[in-house]
Amino acid sequence: MEDISNALNLGLIVVDAEGKVLLWNNWIAKYSNIKEANALNRPLEQAFSEPVSSAFLAALKNTLEYRLPVVLSTALHRTPLPLYSVFETTRQQARMYQSITITPIRSQLNEPCCLIQITDSSTSIKREKILRSHSELLKKEAITDSLTDICNRRFFDAHYEIAVADAKRQKHLLSVFMIDIDFFKPYNDYYGHIAGDHAIKQVADALKAQLSRATDIVARYGGEEFVLVMPHLPQQVAEQIAEKLRRAVFNLAIPHINSSPFHRVTISIGLCTGIPERDDNLLNKADAALYQAKQKGRNRYISLPLCESEEYLEQ
Ligand code: GH3
Ligand code: MG
Ligand code: MG
Repeated sequence: MEDISNALNLGLIVVDAEGKVLLWNNWIAKYSNIKEANALNRPLEQAFSEPVSSAFLAALKNTLEYRLPVVLSTALHRTPLPLYSVFETTRQQARMYQSITITPIRSQLNEPCCLIQITDSSTSIKREKILRSHSELLKKEAITDSLTDICNRRFFDAHYEIAVADAKRQKHLLSVFMIDIDFFKPYNDYYGHIAGDHAIKQVADALKAQLSRATDIVARYGGEEFVLVMPHLPQQVAEQIAEKLRRAVFNLAIPHINSSPFHRVTISIGLCTGIPERDDNLLNKADAALYQAKQKGRNRYISLPLCESEEYLEQ
Protein backbone atom coordinates (compact mmCIF):
# COMPACT_ATOMS: atom_id res chain seq x y z
CA MET A 1 0.00 0.00 0.00
CA GLU A 2 2.79 2.39 0.96
CA ASP A 3 4.55 1.70 -2.34
CA ILE A 4 1.41 2.55 -4.26
CA SER A 5 0.80 5.80 -2.41
CA ASN A 6 4.44 6.81 -2.98
CA ALA A 7 4.38 5.92 -6.65
CA LEU A 8 1.33 8.09 -7.37
CA ASN A 9 1.79 11.33 -9.23
CA LEU A 10 -0.43 13.18 -6.80
CA GLY A 11 -0.28 14.24 -3.20
CA LEU A 12 -1.91 12.10 -0.53
CA ILE A 13 -2.36 13.08 3.10
CA VAL A 14 -4.48 11.21 5.62
CA VAL A 15 -5.41 12.88 8.91
CA ASP A 16 -7.21 11.38 11.89
CA ALA A 17 -10.30 12.78 13.63
CA GLU A 18 -8.12 15.33 15.47
CA GLY A 19 -6.52 16.48 12.23
CA LYS A 20 -3.16 14.78 12.95
CA VAL A 21 -1.17 13.46 9.99
CA LEU A 22 -1.27 9.65 9.51
CA LEU A 23 0.01 9.50 5.92
CA TRP A 24 2.28 11.85 3.98
CA ASN A 25 3.31 10.44 0.62
CA ASN A 26 6.53 11.09 -1.31
CA TRP A 27 4.83 13.56 -3.70
CA ILE A 28 3.86 15.81 -0.74
CA ALA A 29 7.33 15.42 0.81
CA LYS A 30 8.91 16.46 -2.51
CA TYR A 31 6.81 19.57 -3.15
CA SER A 32 6.54 20.75 0.47
CA ASN A 33 10.19 19.96 1.16
CA ILE A 34 9.12 18.32 4.44
CA LYS A 35 10.00 14.71 5.13
CA GLU A 36 7.33 12.21 6.14
CA ALA A 37 9.02 11.64 9.52
CA ASN A 38 8.75 15.34 10.36
CA ALA A 39 5.07 15.51 9.45
CA LEU A 40 3.62 12.31 10.96
CA ASN A 41 1.49 12.71 14.09
CA ARG A 42 1.53 16.51 13.91
CA PRO A 43 -1.61 18.59 13.43
CA LEU A 44 -1.75 19.25 9.69
CA GLU A 45 -1.44 23.03 9.94
CA GLN A 46 1.78 22.58 11.97
CA ALA A 47 3.24 19.98 9.62
CA PHE A 48 4.02 22.63 7.03
CA SER A 49 6.61 25.30 7.68
CA GLU A 50 4.34 28.03 6.28
CA PRO A 51 0.68 28.81 6.99
CA VAL A 52 -2.03 26.77 5.30
CA SER A 53 -4.92 28.76 3.81
CA SER A 54 -7.85 29.34 6.18
CA ALA A 55 -10.30 28.21 3.48
CA PHE A 56 -8.52 24.84 3.36
CA LEU A 57 -8.57 24.47 7.16
CA ALA A 58 -12.28 25.36 7.27
CA ALA A 59 -13.03 22.76 4.56
CA LEU A 60 -11.02 20.12 6.42
CA LYS A 61 -12.82 20.92 9.69
CA ASN A 62 -16.18 20.57 7.93
CA THR A 63 -15.27 17.19 6.45
CA LEU A 64 -14.03 15.95 9.84
CA GLU A 65 -17.18 17.16 11.60
CA TYR A 66 -19.93 16.40 9.08
CA ARG A 67 -18.28 13.56 7.11
CA LEU A 68 -19.04 15.21 3.79
CA PRO A 69 -16.61 15.29 0.85
CA VAL A 70 -15.33 18.71 -0.31
CA VAL A 71 -13.79 19.87 -3.57
CA LEU A 72 -11.92 23.17 -3.27
CA SER A 73 -12.65 25.41 -6.23
CA THR A 74 -9.42 26.06 -8.15
CA ALA A 75 -10.82 29.40 -9.32
CA LEU A 76 -11.24 30.63 -5.73
CA HIS A 77 -8.38 28.78 -4.03
CA ARG A 78 -5.40 28.54 -6.32
CA THR A 79 -2.65 27.65 -3.84
CA PRO A 80 -4.13 26.55 -0.48
CA LEU A 81 -1.06 24.58 0.65
CA PRO A 82 2.56 25.79 0.70
CA LEU A 83 3.75 23.52 -2.14
CA TYR A 84 6.36 24.65 -4.65
CA SER A 85 7.35 23.38 -8.06
CA VAL A 86 10.70 24.05 -9.67
CA PHE A 87 10.85 25.18 -13.29
CA GLU A 88 13.16 22.92 -15.30
CA THR A 89 14.53 25.75 -17.42
CA THR A 90 15.12 28.54 -14.88
CA ARG A 91 15.43 26.40 -11.73
CA GLN A 92 13.20 28.98 -10.06
CA GLN A 93 10.61 27.99 -7.48
CA ALA A 94 6.98 28.96 -7.83
CA ARG A 95 4.00 28.25 -5.63
CA MET A 96 2.04 25.42 -7.23
CA TYR A 97 -1.58 25.84 -8.35
CA GLN A 98 -3.52 23.01 -6.73
CA SER A 99 -6.75 21.04 -7.12
CA ILE A 100 -7.75 19.58 -3.78
CA THR A 101 -10.42 17.12 -2.73
CA ILE A 102 -11.07 16.12 0.87
CA THR A 103 -12.88 12.83 1.43
CA PRO A 104 -14.08 11.24 4.70
CA ILE A 105 -12.78 7.66 5.04
CA ARG A 106 -12.33 5.08 7.82
CA SER A 107 -9.06 3.61 9.04
CA GLN A 108 -8.41 -0.17 9.32
CA LEU A 109 -9.55 0.17 12.94
CA ASN A 110 -12.78 1.76 11.68
CA GLU A 111 -11.85 5.17 13.04
CA PRO A 112 -13.00 8.25 11.11
CA CYS A 113 -10.21 9.87 9.06
CA CYS A 114 -9.87 12.21 6.14
CA LEU A 115 -8.12 11.63 2.83
CA ILE A 116 -6.72 14.73 1.17
CA GLN A 117 -5.79 14.42 -2.52
CA ILE A 118 -3.79 17.15 -4.21
CA THR A 119 -3.01 17.47 -7.92
CA ASP A 120 -0.84 20.04 -9.68
CA SER A 121 -3.16 22.19 -11.80
CA SER A 122 -0.49 24.69 -12.88
CA THR A 123 -0.48 23.42 -16.48
CA SER A 124 -4.25 23.51 -16.91
CA ILE A 125 -4.47 26.98 -15.31
CA LYS A 126 -1.67 28.23 -17.57
CA ARG A 127 -3.48 26.73 -20.58
CA GLU A 128 -6.73 28.37 -19.46
CA LYS A 129 -4.93 31.75 -19.17
CA ILE A 130 -3.50 31.39 -22.69
CA LEU A 131 -6.93 30.46 -24.07
CA ARG A 132 -8.53 33.42 -22.31
CA SER A 133 -5.97 35.88 -23.67
CA HIS A 134 -6.41 34.37 -27.18
CA SER A 135 -10.16 34.80 -26.99
CA GLU A 136 -9.76 38.43 -25.81
CA LEU A 137 -7.44 39.04 -28.74
CA LEU A 138 -9.96 37.49 -31.14
CA LYS A 139 -12.73 39.65 -29.68
CA LYS A 140 -10.58 42.77 -30.18
CA GLU A 141 -9.69 41.68 -33.73
CA ALA A 142 -13.38 41.20 -34.56
CA ILE A 143 -14.15 44.86 -33.86
CA THR A 144 -10.89 46.50 -34.98
CA ASP A 145 -9.87 47.55 -38.46
CA SER A 146 -6.54 45.85 -39.13
CA LEU A 147 -4.98 48.66 -41.18
CA THR A 148 -5.81 51.62 -38.94
CA ASP A 149 -6.39 49.97 -35.55
CA ILE A 150 -9.56 52.02 -35.05
CA CYS A 151 -13.06 50.49 -34.85
CA ASN A 152 -14.26 48.65 -37.91
CA ARG A 153 -17.57 48.89 -39.76
CA ARG A 154 -19.06 45.95 -37.89
CA PHE A 155 -18.44 47.63 -34.53
CA PHE A 156 -19.68 50.95 -35.85
CA ASP A 157 -23.01 49.51 -37.04
CA ALA A 158 -23.69 47.99 -33.60
CA HIS A 159 -22.52 51.10 -31.73
CA TYR A 160 -24.50 53.46 -33.95
CA GLU A 161 -27.74 51.56 -33.40
CA ILE A 162 -27.29 51.82 -29.63
CA ALA A 163 -26.26 55.51 -29.80
CA VAL A 164 -29.38 56.38 -31.84
CA ALA A 165 -31.67 54.38 -29.54
CA ASP A 166 -30.19 56.17 -26.47
CA ALA A 167 -30.56 59.60 -28.08
CA LYS A 168 -34.17 58.84 -29.05
CA ARG A 169 -35.08 57.61 -25.59
CA GLN A 170 -33.34 60.39 -23.67
CA LYS A 171 -34.11 63.02 -26.31
CA HIS A 172 -30.54 64.23 -26.58
CA LEU A 173 -28.44 65.43 -29.49
CA LEU A 174 -26.32 63.16 -31.60
CA SER A 175 -23.74 64.26 -34.17
CA VAL A 176 -22.58 62.13 -37.08
CA PHE A 177 -19.51 63.12 -39.10
CA MET A 178 -18.99 61.37 -42.44
CA ILE A 179 -15.41 61.88 -43.62
CA ASP A 180 -13.85 61.07 -46.97
CA ILE A 181 -10.27 61.61 -48.15
CA ASP A 182 -10.18 63.92 -51.17
CA PHE A 183 -8.80 62.80 -54.54
CA PHE A 184 -7.61 59.53 -53.11
CA LYS A 185 -7.79 57.57 -56.31
CA PRO A 186 -5.21 59.88 -57.95
CA TYR A 187 -3.12 59.59 -54.75
CA ASN A 188 -3.00 55.80 -55.09
CA ASP A 189 -2.36 56.01 -58.81
CA TYR A 190 0.59 58.33 -58.33
CA TYR A 191 2.15 57.20 -55.04
CA GLY A 192 1.13 53.52 -55.07
CA HIS A 193 -1.15 51.41 -52.90
CA ILE A 194 1.31 50.95 -50.03
CA ALA A 195 1.79 54.71 -49.64
CA GLY A 196 -2.02 54.97 -49.89
CA ASP A 197 -2.43 52.55 -46.99
CA HIS A 198 0.08 54.53 -44.97
CA ALA A 199 -1.79 57.78 -45.64
CA ILE A 200 -5.10 56.17 -44.55
CA LYS A 201 -3.44 55.12 -41.30
CA GLN A 202 -2.04 58.61 -40.68
CA VAL A 203 -5.46 60.17 -41.29
CA ALA A 204 -7.09 57.66 -38.92
CA ASP A 205 -4.53 58.48 -36.20
CA ALA A 206 -5.07 62.22 -36.66
CA LEU A 207 -8.86 61.82 -36.37
CA LYS A 208 -8.59 59.58 -33.34
CA ALA A 209 -6.30 62.07 -31.60
CA GLN A 210 -9.11 64.66 -31.68
CA LEU A 211 -11.45 62.51 -29.56
CA SER A 212 -11.38 62.91 -25.82
CA ARG A 213 -14.65 61.49 -24.43
CA ALA A 214 -15.34 57.80 -23.88
CA THR A 215 -18.72 58.19 -25.61
CA ASP A 216 -17.15 59.38 -28.90
CA ILE A 217 -16.09 56.85 -31.48
CA VAL A 218 -14.30 56.95 -34.80
CA ALA A 219 -14.54 54.04 -37.20
CA ARG A 220 -13.32 53.16 -40.67
CA TYR A 221 -16.53 53.15 -42.68
CA GLY A 222 -15.10 51.94 -45.97
CA GLY A 223 -11.90 52.26 -48.07
CA GLU A 224 -10.91 55.92 -47.47
CA GLU A 225 -14.02 56.88 -45.53
CA PHE A 226 -14.44 57.35 -41.82
CA VAL A 227 -17.36 58.05 -39.53
CA LEU A 228 -17.47 59.70 -36.11
CA VAL A 229 -20.36 59.63 -33.68
CA MET A 230 -20.54 62.05 -30.75
CA PRO A 231 -23.49 62.62 -28.41
CA HIS A 232 -24.51 65.79 -26.53
CA LEU A 233 -22.95 68.46 -28.77
CA PRO A 234 -24.78 71.64 -29.76
CA GLN A 235 -24.51 72.06 -33.52
CA GLN A 236 -22.08 74.96 -33.17
CA VAL A 237 -19.69 72.91 -31.04
CA ALA A 238 -19.97 69.98 -33.47
CA GLU A 239 -19.00 72.41 -36.25
CA GLN A 240 -15.94 73.53 -34.32
CA ILE A 241 -14.94 69.88 -33.98
CA ALA A 242 -15.46 69.32 -37.72
CA GLU A 243 -13.11 72.21 -38.39
CA LYS A 244 -10.60 70.77 -35.91
CA LEU A 245 -10.72 67.42 -37.72
CA ARG A 246 -10.23 69.07 -41.12
CA ARG A 247 -7.28 71.09 -39.83
CA ALA A 248 -5.66 68.10 -38.11
CA VAL A 249 -5.49 66.20 -41.42
CA PHE A 250 -4.44 69.31 -43.36
CA ASN A 251 -1.60 69.87 -40.88
CA LEU A 252 -0.26 66.36 -41.47
CA ALA A 253 0.96 67.94 -44.73
CA ILE A 254 1.12 64.63 -46.60
CA PRO A 255 2.26 65.66 -50.11
CA HIS A 256 -0.31 65.01 -52.86
CA ILE A 257 0.78 66.38 -56.21
CA ASN A 258 -2.59 65.64 -57.86
CA SER A 259 -4.76 67.47 -55.34
CA SER A 260 -5.26 70.92 -56.68
CA PRO A 261 -5.02 73.56 -55.21
CA PHE A 262 -3.90 72.05 -51.85
CA HIS A 263 -1.10 69.72 -53.00
CA ARG A 264 -1.48 67.74 -49.82
CA VAL A 265 -3.90 65.10 -48.50
CA THR A 266 -7.16 66.68 -47.29
CA ILE A 267 -10.56 65.50 -46.14
CA SER A 268 -14.14 66.57 -46.73
CA ILE A 269 -16.65 66.27 -43.91
CA GLY A 270 -20.43 65.98 -43.86
CA LEU A 271 -21.90 66.71 -40.46
CA CYS A 272 -25.42 66.21 -39.20
CA THR A 273 -26.57 67.04 -35.67
CA GLY A 274 -30.00 66.41 -34.24
CA ILE A 275 -32.26 64.59 -31.84
CA PRO A 276 -33.40 61.47 -33.66
CA GLU A 277 -37.15 61.33 -33.19
CA ARG A 278 -38.95 59.52 -35.96
CA ASP A 279 -37.22 57.58 -38.71
CA ASP A 280 -34.75 60.40 -39.22
CA ASN A 281 -31.51 59.18 -40.58
CA LEU A 282 -28.51 61.12 -39.37
CA LEU A 283 -26.21 58.99 -41.50
CA ASN A 284 -28.01 59.78 -44.76
CA LYS A 285 -28.11 63.47 -43.91
CA ALA A 286 -24.39 63.48 -43.03
CA ASP A 287 -23.71 61.72 -46.33
CA ALA A 288 -25.72 64.39 -48.20
CA ALA A 289 -23.67 67.06 -46.38
CA LEU A 290 -20.46 65.29 -47.43
CA TYR A 291 -21.63 65.31 -51.05
CA GLN A 292 -22.14 69.07 -50.80
CA ALA A 293 -18.67 69.54 -49.28
CA LYS A 294 -17.19 67.71 -52.29
CA GLN A 295 -19.25 69.79 -54.70
CA LYS A 296 -18.14 73.02 -53.06
CA GLY A 297 -14.46 72.29 -53.56
CA ARG A 298 -13.38 69.71 -50.88
CA ASN A 299 -11.09 70.33 -47.85
CA ARG A 300 -14.09 71.64 -45.90
CA TYR A 301 -17.04 70.62 -43.80
CA ILE A 302 -20.73 71.16 -44.46
CA SER A 303 -23.08 70.98 -41.51
CA LEU A 304 -26.79 70.23 -41.76
CA PRO A 305 -29.28 70.07 -38.90
CA LEU A 306 -31.48 67.01 -38.88
CA CYS A 307 -34.60 69.18 -39.32
CA GLU A 308 -34.11 72.00 -41.84
CA SER A 309 -36.09 74.52 -39.77
CA GLU A 310 -34.17 74.12 -36.56
CA GLU A 311 -30.79 74.60 -35.03
CA TYR A 312 -30.36 72.65 -31.85
CA LEU A 313 -28.84 74.06 -28.72
CA GLU A 314 -28.28 71.66 -25.86
CA GLN A 315 -27.30 73.07 -22.51
P1 GH3 B 1 -13.16 62.23 -53.94
O1 GH3 B 1 -12.39 63.43 -53.61
O2 GH3 B 1 -14.38 62.56 -54.72
O3 GH3 B 1 -13.48 61.40 -52.74
O4 GH3 B 1 -12.25 61.35 -54.89
P2 GH3 B 1 -11.58 59.94 -54.61
O5 GH3 B 1 -10.56 59.70 -55.66
O6 GH3 B 1 -11.09 59.88 -53.21
O7 GH3 B 1 -12.84 59.00 -54.72
P3 GH3 B 1 -13.05 57.55 -55.20
O8 GH3 B 1 -14.17 57.00 -54.35
O9 GH3 B 1 -13.26 57.51 -56.70
O10 GH3 B 1 -11.73 56.76 -54.88
C1 GH3 B 1 -11.46 56.22 -53.66
C2 GH3 B 1 -10.16 55.51 -53.81
O11 GH3 B 1 -9.64 55.13 -52.56
C3 GH3 B 1 -10.27 54.23 -54.59
C4 GH3 B 1 -9.13 53.42 -54.12
O12 GH3 B 1 -8.04 53.56 -55.01
C5 GH3 B 1 -8.74 54.06 -52.80
N1 GH3 B 1 -8.83 53.13 -51.67
C6 GH3 B 1 -9.95 52.63 -51.10
N2 GH3 B 1 -9.61 51.79 -50.09
C7 GH3 B 1 -8.27 51.76 -50.03
C8 GH3 B 1 -7.32 51.06 -49.19
O13 GH3 B 1 -7.67 50.31 -48.29
N3 GH3 B 1 -6.01 51.30 -49.43
C9 GH3 B 1 -5.59 52.13 -50.41
N4 GH3 B 1 -4.30 52.31 -50.55
N5 GH3 B 1 -6.45 52.77 -51.20
C10 GH3 B 1 -7.77 52.61 -51.02
MG1 MG C 1 -14.97 57.63 -51.06
MG1 MG D 1 -12.43 60.13 -51.61
